[in-house]
Amino acid sequence: MEQVNSVPLLDLKAQLVGLREEIAQAVLEVVDSTQYIMGPKIQALEDQVASYTGAAYAIGVSSGTDALLLSLMGLDIGPGDSVITTDFSFFATAGVIARLHAKPIFVDIDPVTFNMDPPALLHCLESMPVSERQTVKAIMPVHLYGQSADLTPLLDIAAQYRIPVIEDAAQAIGTEYFPPEGPQRVGTMGDIGCFSFFPSKNLGGIGDGGMIVTQNSELAQKLRLLRVHGAASEYTHEIIGGNFRLDPIQAAVLSVKLPYLDQWHQARQRNANRYTALFQQKNVPEVKTPVAVYADQGLAHYHIYNQYMIRVSQRSELQAFLKERQIATKVYYPVPFHQQQCFRHLGYRDGAFPESEKAAQEVLALPIYPELTEAMQTYVVEAIADFYRN
Ligand SMILES: *Cc1c(COP(=O)(O)O)cnc(C)c1O
Repeated sequence: MEQVNSVPLLDLKAQLVGLREEIAQAVLEVVDSTQYIMGPKIQALEDQVASYTGAAYAIGVSSGTDALLLSLMGLDIGPGDSVITTDFSFFATAGVIARLHAKPIFVDIDPVTFNMDPPALLHCLESMPVSERQTVKAIMPVHLYGQSADLTPLLDIAAQYRIPVIEDAAQAIGTEYFPPEGPQRVGTMGDIGCFSFFPSKNLGGIGDGGMIVTQNSELAQKLRLLRVHGAASEYTHEIIGGNFRLDPIQAAVLSVKLPYLDQWHQARQRNANRYTALFQQKNVPEVKTPVAVYADQGLAHYHIYNQYMIRVSQRSELQAFLKERQIATKVYYPVPFHQQQCFRHLGYRDGAFPESEKAAQEVLALPIYPELTEAMQTYVVEAIADFYRN
């Protein structure tokens, strides 16, 4: 095995090696075409993503954050409205709600998947005064770290209260979920699904980008309008939108990468299984490894491991110890939404969402990118074992 003395959290160079020529060619095509806004590269990627995810419509947008923002705008969400989401996610999930002057309402997570807990959602809705419940205009679950939220009960609850669902699938393009009707890719089961092409996502561009998918033609049409300032034809504005366009250079690069996505997912899954086996083998009971809830059904895409999150005690000491051995780790996310300064005014107390608060204190991301080698993973696990033995 090769000698390892450092492991980065992510190595985009490793992925670029085999794709550099193809990507450079695609970028050059955009440059030479002089079609720098919208055009065939956008359409091509939208068609690819629609067919890959099983969505009827796909709309390329400027980022994952803008995909979420535009989705809320597509549902006419604004002042006086509220949106229920998870307490534990990347900031954008809650930020977009507040930016539209709507009120975010948080619910606790399931401690195994880190995703919105269906009983907590039900309890949240049931315990609200009717007048407040009537202000809830969307429910926004997140498929955190690349694992699907438990959509069947979440969608049932949403349907019971007739509230639309926006899936934040920014970390989970390609993740399958298994409702009784058979496997489906996330983003396509709610009313709207949002993806991000931020470079560290499983399908990453060479800059910002995002995509919205939906099965609803009316909604798709409205989202397309909102993407270009609400103009159905030039300078004729039916509604107020903004500039939310995807850059054709990003679309061109992403079209090159998408055919490799499933094979990258498989490499991440192999790496995840390898970590979990190594932690068992080296006997490190202090580390709680992530659980893919559908793994025991022998299904392929239960979790695409955008992140491999362990739970540990003495986290900051461990992180410092690993840093000395040149092993990069990261905490996604150290502060739950209800404890963020900017959401203090919502009036949540500390302890309001115990599972989310506990996760924020314990989680740690280990390097999981597809090109990670077995020797690197062994180096990481041995370092963590050393930490707890000393
Ligand atoms: C990355 C991410 C976003 C935002 O995507 P950007 O493309 O960075 O704007 C939103 N939600 C979640 C859960 C994310 O991980």
